Amino acid sequence: LAQSDYFFVGGNWKCNGTKDSISKLVSDLNSAKLEADVDVVVSPPFVYIDQVKNSLTDRIEISAQNSWVGKGGAFTGEISVEQLKDIGCKWVILGHSERRHVIGEDDQFIGKKAAYALTQNLKVIACIGEKLDERETGKTFDVCFQQMKAFAGRLLLLIDVSSLVDYIVTNMVVNWDDVVIAYEPVWAIGTGKVATPQQAQEVHVAVRDWIKKNVSAEVASKTRIIYGGSVNGSNCAELAKEEDIDGFLVGGASLKGPEFATIVNAVT
Ligand code: PGA
Repeated sequence: LAQSDYFFVGGNWKCNGTKDSISKLVSDLNSAKLEADVDVVVSPPFVYIDQVKNSLTDRIEISAQNSWVGKGGAFTGEISVEQLKDIGCKWVILGHSERRHVIGEDDQFIGKKAAYALTQNLKVIACIGEKLDERETGKTFDVCFQQMKAFAGRLLLLIDVSSLVDYIVTNMVVNWDDVVIAYEPVWAIGTGKVATPQQAQEVHVAVRDWIKKNVSAEVASKTRIIYGGSVNGSNCAELAKEEDIDGFLVGGASLKGPEFATIVNAVT
């Protein structure tokens, strides 16, 4: 199997946990039986990454939940890509709906962050997804394509012609092997209202088609497109059966070790 054929399951712990609860979660993950052909990644809050890195099995890689848009320096409260790599992170989640819609990060900023992380060989879980009103007004594909465009670096050319350097950097370095796309409809995140397998599959196909038209057929066929939004131990198997669902990004259910293991093993 090529790496791109592996099912990919990420656990996004968000702003949850204490030293004690995380130590329990890590020990549950260490003793869980995880199928071999699945890439497994967990994303602890920054302050616990070191603890997790030092106690979690190497079988599971570590992701950050955010990273700074460029090199470190005088950016109070931020964490740089270089620092994340220094403490052993392999991945970063960028463009999560909570960063977009609660914190206010826009497409362009997120696109730049992704480009920078990739130049430093930090792999990116690139999140996209529509809000409920956008789905209800038929804008799901438009929103997802716009967000994809920012990740693919084209937005920089269209809206900020002066950023020629950004554009060149973005387009030259995107190694699509290091990118996983997470489709996470905002209305499904943390709501218990999971997308149906058909709803998810429909968007995954559209996004894959977008990649085919705007990047290449090769990248489209190999890029993993994972689903996120109220995935749990009971609904994961049905979702995993869909042809274009290549894995999951899991929030709430990733805080429970045994349930997360069930989701990791959903495809088997
Ligand atoms: P949820 O979160 O599984 O709690 O809906 C998913 C996510 O935000 O990545």
